[in-house]
Amino acid sequence: MPRHIVCLTFDFDTQSGFIARGMVSPTPLSRGEFGLIGAQRIRHLLRSHNIRATWFIPGFTIESHRGACEAVVQDGHEVAHHSWAHVPPAQQSRAEEEADLVRANEAIARLTGRKARGYRSPAWDLSENTIDLLLAHGFIYDSSLMGGDYWPYRARRVDRVELGRPFHRGEETQLIEMPISWSLDDYPHFEFVRTADMVLPGLQSARVVMENWLDEFRYMQANVDWGVLTYTMHPYVIGRGYRMLALEQLVAKLQRAGAIFMTMEDAAAEAKALHALPDRASAR
Ligand SMILES: [Zn+2]
Repeated sequence: MPRHIVCLTFDFDTQSGFIARGMVSPTPLSRGEFGLIGAQRIRHLLRSHNIRATWFIPGFTIESHRGACEAVVQDGHEVAHHSWAHVPPAQQSRAEEEADLVRANEAIARLTGRKARGYRSPAWDLSENTIDLLLAHGFIYDSSLMGGDYWPYRARRVDRVELGRPFHRGEETQLIEMPISWSLDDYPHFEFVRTADMVLPGLQSARVVMENWLDEFRYMQANVDWGVLTYTMHPYVIGRGYRMLALEQLVAKLQRAGAIFMTMEDAAAEAKALHALPDRASAR
């Protein structure tokens, strides 16, 4: 019996990403603030389609916008780890990374009553310590790597690379990797960002992007018996009216096509059980 799973995931950053990048004047902060309105719209959409989703919420958002985060929990969604201050681990020492990891997990435990099972790094840039730290702190899955699409795989300890030498694969761990892609992330498609040294143009047609995202599901459905497709969105990005309209149409089409919507925690548990089956362990 084929199973084609979709994880809708929302990185509820609010102002944290702007602050981490030093964009602290009133207008960038207000862009992050718009995420509070976006989150309400997303919760309404999910409720009306009876879907449970996964919200990666930085500790910053939990401690700054408590009511908005409690509403996510009350709706029955999974709350997963997305750092405290939205600083990418690749920019932190091991001690800094672990301190941030612990602080954010304590905020999640106060909000939900339990620590996070899943982790997604800010800006999708892990350090060489991240996998070890996640294992040490009891995480089941990570969702920050791009080495697959529909088939979750086991995250590896540091791969060794050196210019001019062959690739050396690190040791596989028990941590389940739920792969992601910038192509399935709302941010680069939609968000207009101008800084001193770059312009991210964004502002693409929401309908066109959602058609691409639907085609990704169709391809999975046509080519694998079992798979997980993960979409990544940000409330302050996807929460604009015309994008919400396009997202709602995507969700309706996915439901008609037979998509099974799950939290990432549940999808990772199912993947882990399949990995335990010898004939599926290497299937892709
Ligand atoms: Zn984020």
